[in-house]
Amino acid sequence: ATPTSIMAGSGRAAELGILFKGGEYLEQTQHINTVVLDKTGTVTKGKPELTDVYAEEHISERLFLSFIGSVEKQSEHPLAQAIVRGILERGIELRDVKEFEAIPGYGVKGIVNQKAVVVGTRQLMNQNNIDITSILNMMEELEANGKTTMLASINGQYAGLVAVSDTIKETSKKAIKRLQEMNIEVIMMTGDNERTAKAIAAQVGIGQTIAEVLPEGKAEEVKKLQSTGKKVAMVGDGINDAPALAVADIGMAIGTGTDVAMEAADITLIRGDLNSIADAIIMSHKTMINIK
Ligand code: ADP
Ligand code: MG
Repeated sequence: ATPTSIMAGSGRAAELGILFKGGEYLEQTQHINTVVLDKTGTVTKGKPELTDVYAEEHISERLFLSFIGSVEKQSEHPLAQAIVRGILERGIELRDVKEFEAIPGYGVKGIVNQKAVVVGTRQLMNQNNIDITSILNMMEELEANGKTTMLASINGQYAGLVAVSDTIKETSKKAIKRLQEMNIEVIMMTGDNERTAKAIAAQVGIGQTIAEVLPEGKAEEVKKLQSTGKKVAMVGDGINDAPALAVADIGMAIGTGTDVAMEAADITLIRGDLNSIADAIIMSHKTMINIK
């Protein structure tokens, strides 16, 4: 491989907003046959909005929102920020929280007005022995519409749910189609639940999803794919994605994402546009042909 063509290739890629961290990545990218996409912030814009609130009969909606908003205020998770924003927009005041705890991949808990408040996944409710059978149907319907649904309990009793919705990037569907037309297998991976994941995936033409992956689990999933002989590019934006970006044959970080993701990746895609994935692979092929 001649250093001159690699440099020229890197330069052309940079003009398109594709930053290779080293010449070796420009060489290796051509071998990618599997692309794993993170959902939130990669396929979607990553700015969820609070869309649905259902409080149980024993509690007013405003009191319910005040309790869960107070706990979520302590969390840095994008879902928490979406919930808090929606609650403040409704003019609801938040309260003091004691013994706040974040449970990565599951949700949050804390004590508000001497009441134990838990917000998060159905698994978190199950772990706390909260009976949620009465709302499972509604939850599944929201999820089938691509919404992320979070359940809440107050003092050990199911109290209501909130759902948030994230917008798919305008460019995602076509960008994914381009990859598929290049015979590249596209998989979406997320910590979110299976049903929501499938709904979002279907909207952008992805058939294969790996859902309900715990924060530490993404790298493990990439390794599993590699062990079957696949050459995997992982594309993500979050702190959670960093270990998977590092393990993948090629890690691609979204330039609008976290610094941690960009540090772990081999390539930064300055434009959040997923078309840069196909562009990077094509660039790699062209550069290597010029060298041969
Ligand atoms: P993602 O990759 O979708 O950001 P995470 O692994 O961070 O997923 O979280 C997985 C799931 O845990 C979320 O979809 C949500 O249901 C729940 N969860 C995580 N953090 C919170 C939170 N602060 N409040 C409520 N639920 C949460
Ligand atoms: Mg993300």
